[in-house]
Amino acid sequence: MSRRGGRQQDNGVGGAGETEGAGGAGTSRRRRGSRDDRFAPVPYRPPVSKEQRVLFIACEGEVTEPQYLDHLNSRYGDGGDGERQPFLIHPISAKNGLIPSRAVAAVRDLKQAEGEEAWVLFDRDEHHDIPKALREAAEANIQVCFSHPSFDLWLLLHFQAMSGRQSGSNKDIVKKLRAAHPAYKSFDVKNDKSVKGERRDALDGEAANKAVRHARSLVNQCEHGGCKADNRKPKPVPRGSVPESDRKWAARSGHAEDCPVLKRDPSTDVWRLLVSLGIVDDRSR
Ligand SMILES: [Zn+2]
Repeated sequence: MSRRGGRQQDNGVGGAGETEGAGGAGTSRRRRGSRDDRFAPVPYRPPVSKEQRVLFIACEGEVTEPQYLDHLNSRYGDGGDGERQPFLIHPISAKNGLIPSRAVAAVRDLKQAEGEEAWVLFDRDEHHDIPKALREAAEANIQVCFSHPSFDLWLLLHFQAMSGRQSGSNKDIVKKLRAAHPAYKSFDVKNDKSVKGERRDALDGEAANKAVRHARSLVNQCEHGGCKADNRKPKPVPRGSVPESDRKWAARSGHAEDCPVLKRDPSTDVWRLLVSLGIVDDRSR
Protein backbone atom coordinates (compact mmCIF):
# COMPACT_ATOMS: atom_id res chain seq x y z
CA MET A 1 0.00 0.00 0.00
CA SER A 2 1.19 3.42 -0.57
CA ARG A 3 0.44 6.37 1.55
CA ARG A 4 3.14 8.64 0.54
CA GLY A 5 4.34 11.98 1.55
CA GLY A 6 4.59 15.09 -0.54
CA ARG A 7 8.23 15.78 0.26
CA GLN A 8 11.42 14.06 1.04
CA GLN A 9 12.05 13.24 4.63
CA ASP A 10 15.12 11.99 6.35
CA ASN A 11 13.94 9.08 8.39
CA GLY A 12 16.63 9.74 10.92
CA VAL A 13 17.38 6.09 11.36
CA GLY A 14 20.73 4.47 10.99
CA GLY A 15 21.47 1.42 8.92
CA ALA A 16 19.53 0.59 5.82
CA GLY A 17 16.47 2.71 6.49
CA GLU A 18 14.73 3.93 3.37
CA THR A 19 13.42 7.38 2.77
CA GLU A 20 9.89 7.76 1.60
CA GLY A 21 9.86 10.03 -1.35
CA ALA A 22 7.83 12.64 -3.05
CA GLY A 23 4.81 12.20 -5.24
CA GLY A 24 1.67 10.18 -4.84
CA ALA A 25 -1.55 11.07 -3.18
CA GLY A 26 0.16 13.37 -0.74
CA THR A 27 -1.80 12.32 2.29
CA SER A 28 0.74 11.86 5.00
CA ARG A 29 4.36 11.44 5.59
CA ARG A 30 5.54 7.99 6.35
CA ARG A 31 8.62 6.37 7.46
CA ARG A 32 9.21 2.74 7.18
CA GLY A 33 11.77 0.29 8.32
CA SER A 34 12.59 2.27 11.41
CA ARG A 35 14.02 0.44 14.34
CA ASP A 36 10.84 0.58 16.31
CA ASP A 37 8.74 -1.21 13.73
CA ARG A 38 7.24 -4.30 15.14
CA PHE A 39 5.61 -7.17 13.40
CA ALA A 40 2.05 -7.71 14.37
CA PRO A 41 1.91 -10.86 16.44
CA VAL A 42 1.00 -13.86 14.37
CA PRO A 43 -1.11 -16.34 16.25
CA TYR A 44 0.19 -19.27 14.28
CA ARG A 45 -2.25 -22.08 13.76
CA PRO A 46 -0.93 -25.16 12.06
CA PRO A 47 -2.94 -26.61 9.16
CA VAL A 48 -6.12 -28.33 10.29
CA SER A 49 -6.03 -30.81 7.45
CA LYS A 50 -3.64 -32.16 4.88
CA GLU A 51 -5.29 -30.01 2.24
CA GLN A 52 -5.13 -26.75 4.09
CA ARG A 53 -2.51 -24.32 2.88
CA VAL A 54 -1.08 -22.00 5.46
CA LEU A 55 0.43 -18.83 4.05
CA PHE A 56 2.44 -16.17 5.75
CA ILE A 57 2.03 -12.99 3.78
CA ALA A 58 4.07 -9.98 4.73
CA CYS A 59 2.67 -6.61 3.73
CA GLU A 60 4.41 -3.36 3.18
CA GLY A 61 1.36 -1.39 4.28
CA GLU A 62 -0.13 -1.63 7.72
CA VAL A 63 -3.82 -1.14 6.93
CA THR A 64 -5.04 -1.81 3.42
CA GLU A 65 -3.25 -5.04 2.60
CA PRO A 66 -3.67 -6.78 5.99
CA GLN A 67 -7.37 -5.91 5.96
CA TYR A 68 -7.65 -7.16 2.40
CA LEU A 69 -6.00 -10.44 3.38
CA ASP A 70 -8.38 -10.76 6.33
CA HIS A 71 -11.15 -10.34 3.80
CA LEU A 72 -9.76 -13.19 1.69
CA ASN A 73 -9.64 -15.38 4.79
CA SER A 74 -13.13 -14.63 5.97
CA ARG A 75 -14.80 -14.58 2.60
CA TYR A 76 -13.01 -17.41 0.80
CA GLY A 77 -10.71 -19.26 3.15
CA ASP A 78 -12.02 -22.04 5.31
CA GLY A 79 -10.17 -21.28 8.50
CA GLY A 80 -10.77 -24.94 9.22
CA ASP A 81 -14.47 -25.47 8.51
CA GLY A 82 -13.75 -27.32 5.30
CA GLU A 83 -16.58 -25.69 3.35
CA ARG A 84 -14.62 -23.15 1.41
CA GLN A 85 -11.17 -22.97 -0.14
CA PRO A 86 -8.69 -24.74 2.11
CA PHE A 87 -6.35 -21.93 3.02
CA LEU A 88 -5.48 -19.77 5.96
CA ILE A 89 -3.51 -16.58 5.54
CA HIS A 90 -1.49 -15.06 8.33
CA PRO A 91 -0.99 -11.42 7.37
CA ILE A 92 2.18 -9.90 8.73
CA SER A 93 2.51 -6.16 9.04
CA ALA A 94 4.11 -3.56 11.22
CA LYS A 95 2.77 -0.42 12.76
CA ASN A 96 4.74 1.93 10.57
CA GLY A 97 4.70 -0.32 7.55
CA LEU A 98 7.62 -2.36 6.23
CA ILE A 99 10.00 -1.46 3.47
CA PRO A 100 10.14 -4.31 0.93
CA SER A 101 13.36 -5.93 2.17
CA ARG A 102 12.09 -5.85 5.76
CA ALA A 103 8.85 -7.45 4.65
CA VAL A 104 10.85 -10.22 2.98
CA ALA A 105 12.97 -10.68 6.11
CA ALA A 106 9.90 -10.87 8.33
CA VAL A 107 8.25 -13.60 6.33
CA ARG A 108 11.48 -15.50 5.69
CA ASP A 109 12.01 -16.04 9.39
CA LEU A 110 8.49 -17.34 9.85
CA LYS A 111 8.73 -19.54 6.80
CA GLN A 112 11.88 -21.11 8.14
CA ALA A 113 10.46 -21.54 11.63
CA GLU A 114 7.16 -23.08 10.56
CA GLY A 115 7.96 -24.53 7.16
CA GLU A 116 4.90 -22.96 5.54
CA GLU A 117 4.37 -20.97 2.35
CA ALA A 118 5.50 -17.39 2.26
CA TRP A 119 4.47 -14.46 0.11
CA VAL A 120 5.19 -10.79 0.22
CA LEU A 121 3.20 -7.81 -1.06
CA PHE A 122 4.90 -4.55 -1.79
CA ASP A 123 4.64 -1.49 -4.00
CA ARG A 124 6.85 0.57 -6.18
CA ASP A 125 6.46 3.69 -4.07
CA GLU A 126 9.83 5.36 -3.86
CA HIS A 127 11.65 2.41 -2.40
CA HIS A 128 15.28 1.91 -3.14
CA ASP A 129 15.54 -1.60 -1.83
CA ILE A 130 13.29 -3.36 -4.34
CA PRO A 131 16.11 -5.16 -6.20
CA LYS A 132 17.46 -6.39 -2.86
CA ALA A 133 13.98 -7.48 -1.77
CA LEU A 134 13.44 -9.37 -5.04
CA ARG A 135 16.81 -11.07 -4.78
CA GLU A 136 16.26 -12.14 -1.20
CA ALA A 137 12.73 -13.32 -1.93
CA ALA A 138 14.01 -15.46 -4.81
CA GLU A 139 16.74 -16.95 -2.64
CA ALA A 140 14.21 -17.94 0.00
CA ASN A 141 11.43 -19.12 -2.36
CA ILE A 142 9.12 -16.36 -1.19
CA GLN A 143 6.48 -15.49 -3.76
CA VAL A 144 6.30 -11.83 -4.66
CA CYS A 145 3.25 -9.74 -5.48
CA PHE A 146 4.65 -6.50 -6.71
CA SER A 147 2.35 -3.58 -7.51
CA HIS A 148 3.37 -0.60 -9.56
CA PRO A 149 2.61 2.06 -8.53
CA SER A 150 0.63 0.66 -5.61
CA PHE A 151 -1.74 -1.89 -4.14
CA ASP A 152 -4.50 0.66 -4.78
CA LEU A 153 -4.16 -0.25 -8.45
CA TRP A 154 -5.23 -3.78 -7.54
CA LEU A 155 -8.33 -2.39 -5.82
CA LEU A 156 -9.15 -0.22 -8.83
CA LEU A 157 -8.92 -3.18 -11.21
CA HIS A 158 -11.95 -4.70 -9.45
CA PHE A 159 -14.03 -1.98 -11.06
CA GLN A 160 -12.31 -0.97 -14.25
CA ALA A 161 -9.42 -1.59 -16.56
CA MET A 162 -6.44 0.66 -16.34
CA SER A 163 -3.67 1.52 -18.70
CA GLY A 164 -0.99 4.10 -19.20
CA ARG A 165 2.22 4.69 -17.37
CA GLN A 166 1.85 6.18 -13.89
CA SER A 167 5.54 6.91 -13.36
CA GLY A 168 5.32 6.05 -9.70
CA SER A 169 2.45 8.39 -8.95
CA ASN A 170 -0.58 7.07 -7.18
CA LYS A 171 -2.67 10.16 -7.72
CA ASP A 172 -4.69 9.09 -10.74
CA ILE A 173 -5.26 5.63 -9.34
CA VAL A 174 -6.80 7.01 -6.16
CA LYS A 175 -8.85 9.53 -8.11
CA LYS A 176 -10.24 6.81 -10.36
CA LEU A 177 -10.85 4.48 -7.44
CA ARG A 178 -12.89 7.13 -5.61
CA ALA A 179 -15.03 7.58 -8.71
CA ALA A 180 -15.29 3.89 -9.51
CA HIS A 181 -17.47 2.77 -6.61
CA PRO A 182 -19.48 4.65 -3.96
CA ALA A 183 -17.83 2.67 -1.16
CA TYR A 184 -14.48 4.13 -2.18
CA LYS A 185 -15.70 7.70 -2.51
CA SER A 186 -13.63 8.82 0.46
CA PHE A 187 -10.78 6.37 0.09
CA ASP A 188 -7.56 7.91 1.33
CA VAL A 189 -9.39 10.95 2.68
CA LYS A 190 -8.07 11.75 6.14
CA ASN A 191 -5.71 8.80 5.79
CA ASP A 192 -8.59 6.34 5.65
CA LYS A 193 -7.26 3.57 3.46
CA SER A 194 -9.19 0.86 5.25
CA VAL A 195 -10.82 -2.01 3.42
CA LYS A 196 -13.77 -2.88 5.60
CA GLY A 197 -17.55 -3.07 5.39
CA GLU A 198 -18.90 -1.86 2.07
CA ARG A 199 -15.43 -1.46 0.63
CA ARG A 200 -14.79 -5.09 1.33
CA ASP A 201 -18.15 -6.23 -0.04
CA ALA A 202 -17.50 -4.30 -3.25
CA LEU A 203 -14.50 -6.55 -4.00
CA ASP A 204 -16.46 -9.78 -3.99
CA GLY A 205 -17.63 -12.16 -6.66
CA GLU A 206 -17.56 -10.86 -10.20
CA ALA A 207 -15.42 -7.91 -9.13
CA ALA A 208 -12.64 -10.31 -8.10
CA ASN A 209 -12.86 -12.10 -11.45
CA LYS A 210 -12.69 -8.77 -13.19
CA ALA A 211 -9.62 -7.70 -11.21
CA VAL A 212 -7.77 -10.85 -12.24
CA ARG A 213 -8.73 -10.34 -15.87
CA HIS A 214 -7.64 -6.72 -15.83
CA ALA A 215 -4.37 -7.44 -14.05
CA ARG A 216 -3.56 -10.16 -16.55
CA SER A 217 -4.27 -7.86 -19.41
CA LEU A 218 -1.81 -5.33 -17.98
CA VAL A 219 0.90 -7.97 -18.32
CA ASN A 220 -0.11 -8.56 -21.91
CA GLN A 221 -0.05 -4.81 -22.61
CA CYS A 222 3.35 -4.27 -20.99
CA GLU A 223 5.38 -1.94 -23.15
CA HIS A 224 8.30 -4.34 -23.06
CA GLY A 225 6.36 -6.25 -25.68
CA GLY A 226 7.44 -9.76 -24.78
CA CYS A 227 5.28 -10.21 -21.69
CA LYS A 228 2.33 -12.54 -21.53
CA ALA A 229 0.29 -13.34 -18.45
CA ASP A 230 0.80 -16.91 -17.47
CA ASN A 231 -2.42 -18.85 -17.86
CA ARG A 232 -1.36 -21.66 -15.66
CA LYS A 233 -2.49 -21.80 -12.08
CA PRO A 234 0.38 -20.65 -9.88
CA LYS A 235 1.40 -23.61 -7.80
CA PRO A 236 2.70 -23.54 -4.25
CA VAL A 237 6.47 -23.78 -4.21
CA PRO A 238 7.37 -27.24 -2.90
CA ARG A 239 9.48 -27.30 0.22
CA GLY A 240 13.16 -27.64 -0.43
CA SER A 241 12.90 -26.30 -3.99
CA VAL A 242 16.11 -25.05 -5.49
CA PRO A 243 15.88 -21.24 -5.64
CA GLU A 244 15.62 -19.59 -9.03
CA SER A 245 17.40 -16.45 -10.15
CA ASP A 246 15.63 -13.24 -9.19
CA ARG A 247 14.91 -12.49 -12.84
CA LYS A 248 13.29 -15.83 -13.34
CA TRP A 249 11.44 -15.54 -10.05
CA ALA A 250 10.07 -12.12 -10.96
CA ALA A 251 8.94 -13.49 -14.32
CA ARG A 252 6.41 -15.82 -12.71
CA SER A 253 3.64 -13.31 -13.37
CA GLY A 254 4.26 -13.60 -17.09
CA HIS A 255 6.48 -10.54 -17.52
CA ALA A 256 9.50 -11.51 -19.55
CA GLU A 257 12.70 -12.26 -17.67
CA ASP A 258 14.32 -9.29 -19.30
CA CYS A 259 11.40 -6.96 -18.50
CA PRO A 260 12.84 -4.83 -15.68
CA VAL A 261 10.58 -5.02 -12.64
CA LEU A 262 10.75 -1.30 -12.01
CA LYS A 263 9.51 -0.61 -15.53
CA ARG A 264 6.39 -2.73 -15.22
CA ASP A 265 4.15 0.29 -15.10
CA PRO A 266 1.30 -0.10 -14.38
CA SER A 267 1.26 -3.65 -13.14
CA THR A 268 0.21 -5.74 -10.17
CA ASP A 269 0.86 -9.40 -9.42
CA VAL A 270 -1.80 -9.79 -6.74
CA TRP A 271 -3.98 -11.74 -9.17
CA ARG A 272 -1.54 -14.64 -8.85
CA LEU A 273 -2.43 -15.02 -5.19
CA LEU A 274 -6.17 -15.23 -5.92
CA VAL A 275 -5.73 -17.75 -8.70
CA SER A 276 -3.27 -19.75 -6.63
CA LEU A 277 -5.76 -19.95 -3.75
CA GLY A 278 -8.61 -21.03 -6.02
CA ILE A 279 -10.59 -17.82 -5.29
CA VAL A 280 -10.78 -17.04 -8.97
CA ASP A 281 -10.95 -19.88 -11.41
CA ASP A 282 -8.17 -19.39 -13.90
CA ARG A 283 -10.47 -20.67 -16.64
CA SER A 284 -13.02 -17.94 -15.97
CA ARG A 285 -11.37 -15.50 -18.33
ZN1 LIG B 1 6.67 -6.69 -18.83
